[in-house]
Amino acid sequence: MIPDQLLKGQKALVTGANSGIGKATAVAMGRAGADVVVNYVAGREEAEKVVEEIKSLGVRAVAHEADVSDEDQVVAMVNRTVEEFGTLDILVANAGLQRDAPLTEMTLARWQKVLDVNLTGQFLCAREATKEFLRRGVVPEVSRAAGKIICMSSVHQVIPWAGHVNYASSKGGVQMMMETLAQELAPKKVRVNAIAPGAIQTPINRGAWDTPEAREDLLKLIPYDRVGDPEDIALAAVALASDLMDYVVGATLFVDGGMTLFPGFATGG
Ligand code: NAD
Repeated sequence: MIPDQLLKGQKALVTGANSGIGKATAVAMGRAGADVVVNYVAGREEAEKVVEEIKSLGVRAVAHEADVSDEDQVVAMVNRTVEEFGTLDILVANAGLQRDAPLTEMTLARWQKVLDVNLTGQFLCAREATKEFLRRGVVPEVSRAAGKIICMSSVHQVIPWAGHVNYASSKGGVQMMMETLAQELAPKKVRVNAIAPGAIQTPINRGAWDTPEAREDLLKLIPYDRVGDPEDIALAAVALASDLMDYVVGATLFVDGGMTLFPGFATGG
């Protein structure tokens, strides 16, 4: 399904790449011809499995442990990427988590943890990746852009989400961070965009799909009538990172089966 030369010779860093969307995206980037750094914060064994799968596609891959919310670790991760592969062309700032609670039970620690990983983590990774993009500049045989950043947002950058104020706020922040960086970096030929997944079947939202009742409730929110797969997002990420989408700058691509089309209004309103 993926043209195997679409990202030929490019170097990609995918954060949170030993699970779910990040894992599928890292493998898809490899299938499209990119060398890939597989970032993980815990679960070395799973990260090594992803590395082996990517290597079997005939490209290079390495696992790198780093907490994206830790400045020193992010600096070291991007430095390692450049040491291993010579440069960096694509950042997929994917790592994220949920720590849900109703407002009155939302501790400062839970609020802060989600903001630190989901928003500050993307900021740190984007900053360090951009330093390398600007140092190297455009290499026309590789890509028309000096670098591509894909921020993994969520439909909750626009859909309020009761009981998840930390998560929804972090993704709202990702939208404005992405658009601001896109505006700042476009003249330097760095393309910054986001993907906003809807409901994708991964460990982060197991409770929303792992019983028939939960799945039925979830499908009411999805006009296209299926829960998404990590591969749905991975394919969008490969396309967005490629020169096929060279004129797409500062956009959020909603990959959500129509979840943001207000399906409740199909029969009401
Ligand atoms: P997941 O739990 O399977 O994967 C999240 C990954 O992020 C894991 O590898 C985890 O270890 C990693 N991670 C967490 N904290 C980290 C840290 N401090 N440093 C480095 N890595 C860290 O969940 P997923 O569904 O694959 O989520 C990936 C991204 O997609 C997240 O940003 C999430 O908000 C977003 N998203 C997911 C859905 C969905 O329905 N699954 C919907 C919208 C957005």
